[in-house]
Amino acid sequence: MAPSVRRKPIIAGNWKMNGLQKSKSEVTKLAKRMEKLPTRACDVLICPPATIIATLSQTAKGTQIAIGAQDCHQNDSGAHTGDLSAAMVKEAGAKWIIVGHSERRTDHGETDKVVAAKAIAALGQKCGAIVCVGETLKERKAKDTLKVISRQVRNSLPKEGATAKNLILAYEPVWAIGTGLTPTLDQIREVHAFIRKKLITALGDEGAKVRILYGGSVKPANASDILGVEDVDGALVGGASLKASDFWGIIKTYA
Ligand code: PEP
Repeated sequence: MAPSVRRKPIIAGNWKMNGLQKSKSEVTKLAKRMEKLPTRACDVLICPPATIIATLSQTAKGTQIAIGAQDCHQNDSGAHTGDLSAAMVKEAGAKWIIVGHSERRTDHGETDKVVAAKAIAALGQKCGAIVCVGETLKERKAKDTLKVISRQVRNSLPKEGATAKNLILAYEPVWAIGTGLTPTLDQIREVHAFIRKKLITALGDEGAKVRILYGGSVKPANASDILGVEDVDGALVGGASLKASDFWGIIKTYA
């Protein structure tokens, strides 16, 4: 049985390809609302496009909001036009880097091996890595969900150096991202318990402390049900993280 440990929840926003310099006003508005949030309640992270990581990091200074990145290249430098290394996003202010988001896996053909290499690059820069996994609708319908998750967790995790302080797993069913659809609470519970077991197998006791986020159409209206599921240690939020009022509607579940 998994040892019982307390994990500090984290609500992470993934702004995807949304946000300009003026979007810093959303960070300011959110920080204002969060003044009432006890610091121990939960961590809050916003991962904007790389072009505004530096600006938002300045805006978020002295607040309870951390800024992260949505991706990094697996190499430290070199001929990779348009890509950004972990050191670059770290220098801009990123504390965490999302790797293996399903949109990267689909749009850019990222394999589990590439995702693991990106996670290693993140950890090498002393950034945390948020490793995303999740099944497609076809895989769920074929009852292959746990098989897919097992493969992704096994092969996408950094092989060494991962601890509960620098690694987060995000379970994001591909069919739930941006669709308004969500799995049932039992389905979420089943996958999170499964991932917990895999993390303990991979990392021993440390695996019990790693946070597992649910992602896929989390909104203020469904947040408290989803965040109340065992082994759900927070959420990775896309659409509902863009406006401070919506994002706060999710974060305040922990207030
Ligand atoms: C995401 O992009 O990680 C995500 C979960 O998006 P949404 O919340 O919009 O479904």
